[in-house]
Amino acid sequence: MSGSAEGYVGRFAPSPTGPLHAGSVAAALASWLDARAHGGRWLLRIEDIDPPREQPGATASILDTLSRLGLHADDEPVRQSTRGDLYDAALRTLRERGLAYPCACTRREIADSQLRAGQTVARHGELVYPGTCRDGLPPGREPRAWRLRVPAGAVVLHDRLLGERTQDVAEEVGDFVLRRADGLWAYQLAVVVDDAAQGITHVVRGADLAGSTARQIVLARALGVPSPHWMHVPVVLGEDGDKLSKQNGATAIDADRPLPVLQAAMRHLGFEPPTVSDREAWLAEATRRWAARHGLRPAAEAR
Ligand code: GLU
Repeated sequence: MSGSAEGYVGRFAPSPTGPLHAGSVAAALASWLDARAHGGRWLLRIEDIDPPREQPGATASILDTLSRLGLHADDEPVRQSTRGDLYDAALRTLRERGLAYPCACTRREIADSQLRAGQTVARHGELVYPGTCRDGLPPGREPRAWRLRVPAGAVVLHDRLLGERTQDVAEEVGDFVLRRADGLWAYQLAVVVDDAAQGITHVVRGADLAGSTARQIVLARALGVPSPHWMHVPVVLGEDGDKLSKQNGATAIDADRPLPVLQAAMRHLGFEPPTVSDREAWLAEATRRWAARHGLRPAAEAR
């Protein structure tokens, strides 16, 4: 399955770690509205590559909720769990280009080397990889994970909402993981391979993922595939000010009553929600408002 070269192709790519909540619905609505406002296609991808974090029944629940909200996709959903061959091929390409290397380091060893370098280590924080295995595994060590050889220099990205952003991935993240020590594919690899394979031209997603974008651009360049246009929308915050999650008050939404759910999501995205009570008319009007706000040509009919 691939998108046309010039047409807009967007996507919503939930991980099935639980049912949709107010935050994920806002991200889904934003990407759907942007696709419809461009007269483009909208695809769904279930990011089920991390079985330990998956919740049984979550995929079915997510698909059911989207359908009740009227956020219909233009193709069958793709499941990352069926796409290991594609990820394998991408890793092979990177290895052949000398851009991926095996790494023997444990998280503990990386944290220790950060401490030695005088940096503080947050308990579950991301660790900057110091490049220990970049030029070969230390003698007697077995490979655990695969990492990308990240080129030096800042990555500049343009976000349609946040404006121009810069991140020096080599310095701030280091050579990041493509395939984990437990054999699972890393989110960064799977998302870049799939966005390219599905011909995604525009990514609209929550701002909690904005910190991954520069890595995804670096990886796309290494693979020689185009990067999409980016837009990161505000995330819904829980009672404690952190991103909304099951731990801080996210309740499953009531998809039997789609309009209040859509209205709350629209308000969160900074719009006055339409007042019509017919779902299709509501979505059409919401699409028109989104197009007007973002300076797009008159909205295509909401499908
Ligand atoms: N699967 C990721 C998540 O649910 C989103 C991936 C993306 O939109 O790039 O957080």
